[in-house]
Amino acid sequence: MDLELTDEQRAFAQAARDYAQGELAPNAARWDAQAIFPREAFARAGELGFCAIYASPDIGGLGLPRLDATLVFEEMAAVDPSTTAFLTIHNMATWMVGQWGQAEIRESWGPLLASGEKLASYCLTEPNAGSDAGSLTTSARRDGDHYVLNGAKAFISGGGETDLLVVMARTGGDGPGGVSAFAVPADTPGISYGRKEEKMGWNSQSTRPITFEDVRVPGNHLLGEEGEGFKIAMKGLDGGRINIGTCSVGAAQGALDAARQYMTERRQFGRTLSEFQALQFKLADMATHLVAARQMVRLAACKLDAGAPDAGTYCAMAKRFATDMGFQICLDAQQIHGGYGYLRDYPLERLVRDTRVHQILEGTNEIMRVIVARQLLEKGADVR
Ligand SMILES: Cc1cc2nc3c(=O)[nH]c(=O)nc-3n(C[C@H](O)[C@H](O)[C@H](O)COP(=O)(O)OP(=O)(O)OC[C@H]3O[C@@H](n4cnc5c(N)ncnc54)[C@H](O)[C@@H]3O)c2cc1C
Repeated sequence: MDLELTDEQRAFAQAARDYAQGELAPNAARWDAQAIFPREAFARAGELGFCAIYASPDIGGLGLPRLDATLVFEEMAAVDPSTTAFLTIHNMATWMVGQWGQAEIRESWGPLLASGEKLASYCLTEPNAGSDAGSLTTSARRDGDHYVLNGAKAFISGGGETDLLVVMARTGGDGPGGVSAFAVPADTPGISYGRKEEKMGWNSQSTRPITFEDVRVPGNHLLGEEGEGFKIAMKGLDGGRINIGTCSVGAAQGALDAARQYMTERRQFGRTLSEFQALQFKLADMATHLVAARQMVRLAACKLDAGAPDAGTYCAMAKRFATDMGFQICLDAQQIHGGYGYLRDYPLERLVRDTRVHQILEGTNEIMRVIVARQLLEKGADVR
């Protein structure tokens, strides 16, 4: 079992670190404070291939393994989890278009999404269908060679800023089997965007409710087959959960680096903080939990790359563990900074605010436990 990265992977991670330091680090605090959605930064990420890391090459993606994507997202999230998290959602939606889009959509939208010229949102959640997403009620009624969409989505990342919406809507009966997925241009008549939500974090990306009123979508915008939409949505989320876990790992690495540096500089009681064993132990635990979370995310990514039957379970375990550990490490790093950690002069309070939501979205951490417990108790899963 080789846990070392290849030279190529290290070079790829270095390219992401250079991008993160050049594009994200100087701007992250301002984008957060002014709630700016940095389209130009996404376009530059696209030039490096970071808008379609695991999407298929025939739509302009890099076609790389999920593991490689984690290397990129981790480097970026170390300085800006919010902007990086949106980039992961765009990658997920782009992959879905490449995987299940019909020829016309793949050809017309694929290269634009892969280059970052156009951006995509993922629209599953509804006001009354959050954790129970399979009960969604947005409808897609067949009308000749079109579908007509009616309903409402909630909490859509990038909503109002993005160009393409991957929308899960009901074409059939109750439950997950009645759901289909569609690629819907964001400016289609009948789509309206609600107010930009005011949030604790993730301020460099908008979050909006979206309403669909008699939105006509050509039949060839259907992704996959009718009734496959929930399966497609969940397959997207398996990778999405690795990505969000990765954003937490990255943020935790950024927080750990800042805490270690601060401990060597700050003096109290005539000594640097690094000389207090209580803080040494805290730092040691932070590093240990960080490595455990990273390894778990990478294991889940490898399982997904290999098409392992238990990949979904590992994605759920990794998401739960990495986002819980990541948030705690950011909190610990903030604590090590004392009162200064509470100030916007330092990045810690932003890392804390940005990583909190990772425990809530792409399936809450309670739902991650539901998934894992179901596999253990009902399906006889073996985690040896
Ligand atoms: C900033 C932000 C961005 C988002 N971006 C997107 C996006 O781009 N696209 C999208 O589709 N969605 C998005 N979401 C929505 C997100 O995925 C949902 O908020 C999340 O799935 C939870 O749904 P809910 O908010 O309706 O909570 P609920 O489902 O109402 O859950 C409330 C509480 O009950 C718990 N709970 C529910 N069911 C169970 C159960 N069976 N067992 C134990 N506990 C349970 C939950 O864990 C939670 O603690 C975003 C959310 C936020 C906050």
